[in-house]
Amino acid sequence: MLDAVLDVLYPRKCVGCGAPRWPFCARCWTDVAALSPPGCERCGRPLETAVSTCRDCPPGALRWSRSSFLYAGPARHVLMRLKFSGMRSIAEALAPWMLQAVARSPPRGWPMGLRGDSSQAVLTWVPLGRRRKRERGYDQAEVLCRALHRLTGWRLQRLLRRVTETPPQAMRSARDRKLALRGAFRSVAAPPYKVVLVDDVLTTGATAAECAAELLRAGAGEVGVLTAARSLGGPLPAHCYTPAGLQPGSVVAREMFSR
Ligand SMILES: [Zn+2]
Ligand SMILES: [Zn+2]
Repeated sequence: MLDAVLDVLYPRKCVGCGAPRWPFCARCWTDVAALSPPGCERCGRPLETAVSTCRDCPPGALRWSRSSFLYAGPARHVLMRLKFSGMRSIAEALAPWMLQAVARSPPRGWPMGLRGDSSQAVLTWVPLGRRRKRERGYDQAEVLCRALHRLTGWRLQRLLRRVTETPPQAMRSARDRKLALRGAFRSVAAPPYKVVLVDDVLTTGATAAECAAELLRAGAGEVGVLTAARSLGGPLPAHCYTPAGLQPGSVVAREMFSR
């Protein structure tokens, strides 16, 4: 109901350029890099051939990572909007792509398909601190996590609390960032064996790794991270730019999401 009202007040336009297509128009799709296999089996970084690990792999506490898009261009715009204008419909638009990122190259030992296929894995999110959440009114990672839960039916559980508010990360060196993160998260419930940590963006992976380390301390056995976008250095193979075959509603997408 609220979404319907919002659609009248804020019609769903391309988040890249404002053209009347949601979430991206055909022109903007050509600037979106979808991170698709073959590539690194651990972190999903696209490469010309499959490898088991790569230089862009996140820190060791994370068993695996998957992200839908390169954090650049229209994909970056859409996440800035999720962060600062809070439309839940943005999370609903991103959730199918996040599911696709794990479903088309499932992490080893994690059969992550549609409903029921996620075995005992539980979704949780990288939480904002209390003050930041209050300022913003919501937690964008939690909003994404709940959208994925609604789409897949995978179990969802709040497992972490952020105990220290760290200043904007852009201000710090990688070393300072790591120190500032130490002890930043506390577990609030006994975690299951397999946890899928959800966040909006993966950069160095330091934040997600800190969450994973806390979950492992609290008793989890394996933690992977799933984000809507990821920053990567260096070029991506051409197979990441095939917009026609990847648009939701295309034949490929319909097959993926039909139940
Ligand atoms: Zn556009
Ligand atoms: Zn990798």
